[in-house]
Amino acid sequence: MHKVILKPKKEESLLRFHPWVFSGAIHSIQGKPAEGDLVEVFDCRDNFLATGHYQIGSIAVRIVSFRQQEITASFWEKRIARAYEMRCALGLVTTENNTYRLVHGEGDSLPGLIVDVYDDTAVMQAHSIGMHETRHELAKAIVKMVPEVKNVYYKSETTLPFKAPVDPEDGYLIGSDTKKYTALENDLQFNVDWLRGQKTGFFIDQRENRALLERYSKGKSVLNMFCYTGGFSVYAMRGGANLVHSVDSSAKAMEITDKNIALNFSNDSRHTSYAEDAFKFLNGIQDSGVKYDLIVLDPPAFAKHREALRNALKGYKRLNAKAFEQIKPGGILFTFSCSQVVSREQFRLAVFSAAAESGRNVRILHQVTQPADHPVNIYHPEGEYLKGLVLWVE
Ligand code: SAH
Repeated sequence: MHKVILKPKKEESLLRFHPWVFSGAIHSIQGKPAEGDLVEVFDCRDNFLATGHYQIGSIAVRIVSFRQQEITASFWEKRIARAYEMRCALGLVTTENNTYRLVHGEGDSLPGLIVDVYDDTAVMQAHSIGMHETRHELAKAIVKMVPEVKNVYYKSETTLPFKAPVDPEDGYLIGSDTKKYTALENDLQFNVDWLRGQKTGFFIDQRENRALLERYSKGKSVLNMFCYTGGFSVYAMRGGANLVHSVDSSAKAMEITDKNIALNFSNDSRHTSYAEDAFKFLNGIQDSGVKYDLIVLDPPAFAKHREALRNALKGYKRLNAKAFEQIKPGGILFTFSCSQVVSREQFRLAVFSAAAESGRNVRILHQVTQPADHPVNIYHPEGEYLKGLVLWVE
């Protein structure tokens, strides 16, 4: 196997099980690995450290094993089985719930791989060439180790590195289109369109926060901003909200939201959809004087790279300031950031500044994060990305 030899002292992070080797840590490479090939990593004294997928770029190796072993089909099967066992233990594979993240990259010791399960279909995304090259083996491992899964849809056209010399055509690796597209989350039905939808078709990572919102919805007027497929709205309806307004700039998202509301609550006039820009909508209601008891702000990642951080923080502040203006006294604001580069503290500070500007008395009820099927590898804190605050606004 190709051998990657590190510079002196550069082995330290690997000895602490951090699963990435940065290109700057590499002294030399024996052999000529192609992108996606497996390589073994050694320290400068020729001690074995780990095996991983080689890639051209700042993260040069993504570690799949810290033991010297052959990476065979059974290796991938064991990893998938471990991931599945944990989801079963978490109570996510039941008659009320068949929607969950099976593999969360580094969090499941499978860097570069995301797998979401919707009923009998797994949607797989590769973020590294190594996982792309392994896709068929992984798909086989998934159907073998996860009894419910019959189809594996591969969706990596937009997730692989931009300059990768591969052609990741989206499509079914195993099975075919069941045309079912309906998944069950906490006994609620959702139409999930993995072919055309964003990411794998649904944002599973908000499941527990949606359930928290349900608890507070009874008799309330709810505004769900950046609703995408309407997850928070459906939970608010079940929680007994009086009125739910869902807003997303994407008309397609609003279509799916309408479908999801109808799937669970047919002929229910409490819900209204708005295909509109968030700021435009918030300015509009400000002028008309409409106020809400509960507001959800779940915008897309404002900063995808570190350079965009300052503007992102300004964006969070501006958005939250608008919500503080539109929330009734005794209202509850659910506010989120899914930008990995924005830290929990930075986000809190942005919301804090917005609260101060509004002059309102604000208390933190909950500090929330991603759910347990999006686990953070303790040796890879970068895996924590979703941050949320649930605030009581007087
Ligand atoms: N809360 C959702 C996920 C939100 S993803 C859930 O629980 O599933 C972010 C959403 O913001 C996307 O659907 C995107 O279409 C929408 N969006 C992006 N920019 C927007 C804008 N300026 N105004 C309104 N919606 C926007």
